[in-house]
Amino acid sequence: MKKKIVVVGAFVTDLVATMKEFPAAGESIVGETLNTYLGGKGVNQCVSVARLGGDVSMIGMVGDDAYGKKFLSFMDEEGIDHRGVFVHKELPTGLAQVQINASSQNRICVIPGANMGFGFEEEEKVKPILDNADIVMFQFEMRLDVIFDMIRYCHKKGKTVVLNPAPAAPIPDDILAAVDYLTPNETELAKISGISSYDTLEDIEEGCKRLKDKGVKTIVTTLGDRGCYIYNEKGNFYKGFKVKAVDTVAAGDSFNGAFTVKLSEGSSLEEAARYANGMGALTVQTKGAIPSLKNRECLEAFLAENK
Ligand code: ADP
Repeated sequence: MKKKIVVVGAFVTDLVATMKEFPAAGESIVGETLNTYLGGKGVNQCVSVARLGGDVSMIGMVGDDAYGKKFLSFMDEEGIDHRGVFVHKELPTGLAQVQINASSQNRICVIPGANMGFGFEEEEKVKPILDNADIVMFQFEMRLDVIFDMIRYCHKKGKTVVLNPAPAAPIPDDILAAVDYLTPNETELAKISGISSYDTLEDIEEGCKRLKDKGVKTIVTTLGDRGCYIYNEKGNFYKGFKVKAVDTVAAGDSFNGAFTVKLSEGSSLEEAARYANGMGALTVQTKGAIPSLKNRECLEAFLAENK
């Protein structure tokens, strides 16, 4: 039977304005285009699981505003159960103001808003949803004290804990020991494990070993176009697919979603790695986050063509 996945994570709306040149301090300029995109690592991972046919629910918090409403109706469209998503009365829905100039440089200001409003009170309320889950996925775009407490709870209840430690932050030893699958990218691995270089597979293996010594069961490190490296009893490298990348936004999120869907179906690590590398490779071929998250049919056609 397919296992039940719950994603605990953030909602962020990206407001992307393009302009010839950034305004200087105190200056107003006229920009060119404005686009609004739904995102946040939690949402991206949840949508990726849903589109690949996983049985998934979302836990988190939006604001009582138009962006929050948009997220709720979007989750309905995607068939995602959002009974664990709260609406904060005062804080705005998480938002990123993104400015892009003619040379494609960006300046980004993130307002976490309601994502940081999810506290211990909400944690208490979602415990029945966590109790009902088999696999729970976390990232670091919410209050870390609350995330750590939820990880401890899930571990105690025997749930499979998948932690995507992004953006990287120091992780207490008892949390590392409660994680079944830790899924950093290479820079996050370096920050968390303390390795000074991540150029070679030996460097990556060293970082994984340090985390394994602290009790993480399996470390899945994503390596961009190189693929991924999975370490539990020993390390294995799984080569990525050769594709033309146009935008790497959400590659890590789609990888995490696909990997977890395969875990929920009882697949081997090797199969999960191939599936997740395939999903990441598909994602980088399309611009944006949500539009680049492909469905199962698409992914399986890609894998069949790239045996
Ligand atoms: P993040 O987005 O978190 O930095 P990565 O860049 O490591 O994560 O990408 C996640 C996964 O997406 C990789 O492990 C790989 O499978 C796939 N991927 C990323 N970039 C490419 C690329 N240029 N070509 C093919 N696959 C890619």
